[in-house]
Amino acid sequence: MKTYQLGVMHGDGIGREVIEATLAVLEAANQGREQVKLKLETLPMGFSAIDRYGHPLPEETKEKLAQKDGWIMGPHDSAAYPERFKAERNPSGELRHYFDLFANIRPAKSLKGINGLVNEADLIIYRENTEGYYPDRNMYSGVGEWMVTPDVAVSSGVFTRKAIERIARAAFEAAMKRKKQVTIVHKANVIRLGTGLFKDVCYEVAKEYPEVEVNDFHVDAMAAHLVKRMNDFDIIVTENMFGDILSDLTGELVGGLGLSPAINANESQAMAQAVHGSAPDIVGQEIANPVGIMLSTVMLLEWLANKHQDKMLLNLAKKIETSILTTLEKGETTPDLGGTKSTQTFTEAVIKHLD
Ligand code: ATP
Repeated sequence: MKTYQLGVMHGDGIGREVIEATLAVLEAANQGREQVKLKLETLPMGFSAIDRYGHPLPEETKEKLAQKDGWIMGPHDSAAYPERFKAERNPSGELRHYFDLFANIRPAKSLKGINGLVNEADLIIYRENTEGYYPDRNMYSGVGEWMVTPDVAVSSGVFTRKAIERIARAAFEAAMKRKKQVTIVHKANVIRLGTGLFKDVCYEVAKEYPEVEVNDFHVDAMAAHLVKRMNDFDIIVTENMFGDILSDLTGELVGGLGLSPAINANESQAMAQAVHGSAPDIVGQEIANPVGIMLSTVMLLEWLANKHQDKMLLNLAKKIETSILTTLEKGETTPDLGGTKSTQTFTEAVIKHLD
């Protein structure tokens, strides 16, 4: 039986609270006769890493992650890091770039017991994660933006056939297991070359999947369609920045940032990372909602289970997911969702519902 090697980085702000909650649920769920072999190793990232190693993402962390099957990544408060780190990629940008985690997969699903602005929605955004309009990761060396004069800034966008093909394929593969429906999001009427290439290459990949129904929208129109009729969409594929913005929108539409999960994946490794940030405003108050990172960890376990054809691991993921959803359905929620549970009592409720 395979032993899954997983890294754990608590990060900053509410990271410690929500990740400890997740590990408690993982441990409680993986008890009994049918245990999956998981080997977890805590690795430094964030302020604690600056204090101990002089850098928010030490080389040692990257070297160790290279040996892992996957990892759980907490949030970082990089806006508050000392000035000398401001010109560098932040820890999650660096990990996405360094490990070439090209697919940022962000589901948004209506959940029972959660009052979303829309109901009955169930879609997944496949966001290209390595280039596009994010200048911290679209260069081989250096950063893709420049101050030409103190009053003139130039920011670049990069679009390559290779990166578009692989995110499009990931999206179409996912569509084949769901409703066989893909929506391409771009802005090819104005950004004709860059996002035009994105759109055209997605349509080329679509030819490999004749059973999948494909349409496309400009990103601005898509924002309006999501608010008006989110239920009509299933898989959305888009470039980096559009995906970042649209996934915050879809997360909020189905109930809020604290719930939104995500993984970042390449062919061989995946990183669980909630959509929310380090939420410095609520640190230590015991009100952080751990659902985002708990469901991200479920996604990581499912991704590993599919990769290794491991039914036991899939069962473990499903068991944790069911228990989280049951807890929410019963109205046992943290204050951001209108409930009265603390991070700890919510976690205890999830553990109780595992049975
Ligand atoms: P970052 O730049 O790291 O993304 P941010 O402050 O822009 O940070 P978040 O940290 O995600 O964004 O916080 C946005 C708001 O949502 C804050 O008011 C925060 O308290 C709240 N929030 C974020 N995550 C959670 C959570 N897990 N539970 C409860 N509230 C949360």
